Amino acid sequence: MRLTVIGTGYLGAVHAACMAEIGHEVLGVDVDAEKIAALGEGRVPIYEPGLQEIVGRTVTSGRLRFTTSLSEAAEFGDVHFVCVNTPQRPDAPACDLRAVDAVVDGLAPRLRRRCLIVGKSTVPAGTTARLAARVQELAPAGADVEVAWNPEFLREGYAVRDTLRPERLVVGVMSQRADQILREVYAPMLSDGVPYISTDPATAELVKGAANSFLATKISFINAMAEVCDAAGADVTTLADALGYDSRIGRRFLSAGLGFGGGCLPKDIRAFAARAGELGVGCAVSFLDEIDEINSRQRRRTVDIARDMLGGGFAGHRVAVLGATFKPDSDDVRDSPALAVAGAIHREGADVRLHDPEGIDNARAVLPQLEYVHDVEKACAGAGLVLHLTDWAEYRRIDPAALAVVTPARKILDARNALDASLWRSAGWTLRALGRPTPPAVPGQQATVGQRASAGRGCAPGQRHLPADRTA
Ligand code: NAD
Repeated sequence: MRLTVIGTGYLGAVHAACMAEIGHEVLGVDVDAEKIAALGEGRVPIYEPGLQEIVGRTVTSGRLRFTTSLSEAAEFGDVHFVCVNTPQRPDAPACDLRAVDAVVDGLAPRLRRRCLIVGKSTVPAGTTARLAARVQELAPAGADVEVAWNPEFLREGYAVRDTLRPERLVVGVMSQRADQILREVYAPMLSDGVPYISTDPATAELVKGAANSFLATKISFINAMAEVCDAAGADVTTLADALGYDSRIGRRFLSAGLGFGGGCLPKDIRAFAARAGELGVGCAVSFLDEIDEINSRQRRRTVDIARDMLGGGFAGHRVAVLGATFKPDSDDVRDSPALAVAGAIHREGADVRLHDPEGIDNARAVLPQLEYVHDVEKACAGAGLVLHLTDWAEYRRIDPAALAVVTPARKILDARNALDASLWRSAGWTLRALGRPTPPAVPGQQATVGQRASAGRGCAPGQRHLPADRTA
């Protein structure tokens, strides 16, 4: 089939490449001419494992091409996938649909033949119906142009695998024809047995918001348990293991730490709650405010514990920060908890040296005032404290004894609960973590209880609903 993919960012670039990989002819479209030029030459401007190979292969084969022209797209496509960004509105915790609206307003007047517009961006319930009416007003082809929604569930870091072998496909359609077209698009996945849920557009739109709300809730739940563990002198990782064996609960997404960030979860739960409010059922999801607040609190707690580990203040201290991206295996720093913490301690006077395997360029664009280094040892040299803020596999492989040679202070805060605490401690490091007791300095004494109290600020509310780059 001839597909266009409009918006070639973290979602669209992967979708376009994977659709070409399964045999479609694909035209990627973006307003960012630099991005389109790079992709057109087979170069991927983001870090996403496996993507470069597929883009290189499909561009060379001629099945994947790129343009900035919506007119070219309108002529080319049987199906137009809309993958543009839907960030948080600058003035409210709601979804900013300007890019989606701009695509529809630009594309529809150029549509002179039968085709299907399929949204993949994450949008509030009711968007498909609104856009379908708009398309009917604008498209010369009239009723021959339909709109459907097909929310995307890919995870950055696994985006290629998730697109080629999704756990499920959800489509919100208004006709059998639209359903049939989408079954054809995804035929290889369907023949692999991927569950295909065909429903009305509002349900499809809500599935995405509900899924992200559930995932955010699971993360904030275990982080809330970490706070209770800190106060009680208990260990949240053991608690999570024990909970996770219950098949009704499961262990995934139950790792306590610095919390969630990125270009999806934080803004999606806010947009979901905002839309529920517009629909008159805000009270049904008011718990999402608390989920958001617990999440923000982990960033403040991390800063508080770090300050505590430095004896009460950051001024005059060098701090090594390991990790800038919101998660490992991505270069995405949007609303990154790691970057929010790095920015906050820099503002309090710390001399921050930040390392990240893939995210330095993007981080520097957000926080140019920090010092960036491409080598873990250089980042940690002479640091009074090391902060482990993004769970890259590379950091788990650090030899704490070797690192101690350049970091005589030997203090580390593992805000991802990912390092082997006993290994680090046996190499002479003071290691603290969120939700885990710190062993006594003198063997035989009681473990430290109440990290939260010792860190000072406890549950004090902080600034809500603002992405990290605006709080940082
Ligand atoms: P992104 O910012 O990486 O990419 C968006 C792209 O759209 C950019 O390249 C931008 O230049 C382009 N664009 C903006 N306006 C345009 C226009 N009028 N015409 C053509 N191109 C335009 O964002 P993303 O992370 O890819 O997210 C896109 C959507 O997918 C969002 O709704 C997001 O919530 C959703 N989503 C993202 C992920 C993810 O992991 N990133 C996963 C599932 C769903």
